[in-house]
Amino acid sequence: MFFCPTCGEPTLVIETSFDLGANDRVDEVAVQTVRCDACDCHGAGLYEESRRGAGDHVHHVMCVLPADELHALQRALGARDLPALTEWADRIRAHGPRTIVYRPDCV
Ligand SMILES: [Zn+2]
Repeated sequence: MFFCPTCGEPTLVIETSFDLGANDRVDEVAVQTVRCDACDCHGAGLYEESRRGAGDHVHHVMCVLPADELHALQRALGARDLPALTEWADRIRAHGPRTIVYRPDCV
């Protein structure tokens, strides 16, 4: 389960995820739309995973978006628009995103 950075509840849902592939820094990058039913927030997620060096390194963050920006992101995801989604990844990083905490269900 994913914990919402806004309200702290384990109710964050990844709605859509698009894999941008590897770049010179990380092995896996995905741009996502996320929502939380507990606090009714919608936003953009960014998942980055690096398997280089010592151990895995996962960086999973989100920022809350206003409806018009969210719709623009949903359109880019729907169109699988790689240049636009790469731009979105930079935008999410620049947005001062907050970390999404993940814990397996069975603990
Ligand atoms: Zn929430």
